Amino acid sequence: MTTHLDHTHDPSLRSFVDSANDPSTDFPIQNLPLGVFVRGTGRHVGIAIGRSVLDVTSAARELFAGDTATAAEACATGSLNALMALGRPAARALRRRASELLRHGSGERAAVERHLIPMRDVQMLLPATIGDYTDFYASVHHATNVGSMFRPDNPLLPNYKWVPIGYHGRASSIVASGTPVVRPKGQTKDDASASPAFGPSKRLDYELEVGCFVAGRNALGETLPIADADDRIFGLCLLNDWSARDIQAWEYQPLGPFLAKNFATSISPWVVTLDALAPFRAPLAPRAEGDPRPLPYLDGETDRSAGGFAVTLEVAISSRRMRESDMPATVLSRSSLLDVYWSFAQMLAHHASGGCNLEPGDLVGSGTVSGEAKDARGCLLELTWRGSDPISLLSGEQRKFLEDGDEVVLRGWCEREGYARIGFGECVGEIVPAR
Ligand code: MN
Repeated sequence: MTTHLDHTHDPSLRSFVDSANDPSTDFPIQNLPLGVFVRGTGRHVGIAIGRSVLDVTSAARELFAGDTATAAEACATGSLNALMALGRPAARALRRRASELLRHGSGERAAVERHLIPMRDVQMLLPATIGDYTDFYASVHHATNVGSMFRPDNPLLPNYKWVPIGYHGRASSIVASGTPVVRPKGQTKDDASASPAFGPSKRLDYELEVGCFVAGRNALGETLPIADADDRIFGLCLLNDWSARDIQAWEYQPLGPFLAKNFATSISPWVVTLDALAPFRAPLAPRAEGDPRPLPYLDGETDRSAGGFAVTLEVAISSRRMRESDMPATVLSRSSLLDVYWSFAQMLAHHASGGCNLEPGDLVGSGTVSGEAKDARGCLLELTWRGSDPISLLSGEQRKFLEDGDEVVLRGWCEREGYARIGFGECVGEIVPAR
């Protein structure tokens, strides 16, 4: 694992794009996340800078020659898959060049400005064609809370502290932030009824997660040593694993989640690269006394010291009534990605440990990121304890689970003394009625 800190992380850097110098922006010049947007009839790769987007696809020939030519050529495809296939060094070269182009005093300002577009004018798409999607269960607090609702005496199953648990999800129903989410219908069965019924889910939930895009590839049959796993992480985004708890409760045994989670998964459009996250690497929260040490294939020296990312995560919700009367959304929880039990490097090393090929553009979810405290619980199932303890919104409305018209907003950011604050933007979705 290699952590690169260089001049692009210098907190004193300023951009000639004024909005990038606002201390509250998610996208200062130290971030430079990558995304894909619609321009004319095509798809273009862009870099977020303040409230603007640098169109890398249109600027490729003019501004990204030399050691960034290969990376820029990959961006000309209008998707990040080709850049992800080149691995992290190509993205690092692109980042260094973009930092040079966008900084205050840039000699190429006039040329760069021709390729800047106001962010409010662009429609963002998924950043990559996602071939495969896997969702993990890396938060021990989430696993313990959920487990204790179903098995009060034995919340954590015996494999949890040995195996990063996950399931193969549905790649084709992953949608970009802003896409409305149709309430799913399905089979549900309450304890009082003898047989199940089919209809709209009554226990629709969100899950606050972080997504990890894969860089490079390992061939089928090849494994991924933990020491190399970090170089296979292209970058991170926010992920909402929408979940129908009533469908899930009836269908999950014996093979795990299926229709309860395959109707939609939302992700934020900007991928914050691993280089942008370099100043925010840290060890994961220490494991409890007496917990087993990870097996050797999951135990890496640098992963132990810097396998985590100090990302603060937040979820807020607003009802339609709140939005119509301009009320701010109610913040429901705040948690830290450092509180997970397994790092992304461990998840990737485990995923490939049996010879499964991980391809550029594959997406891996962290699982719901919950902390120990009640206000750090990353889904309504935990926050309302299966609906037994409803929460109140700013409007006075109560929620056990999501209602039609509710909008869920995920946010994430990194802050550390001596570095510029960077953020992930938003991952937004509104629930619309079942069809
Ligand atoms: Mn999940």
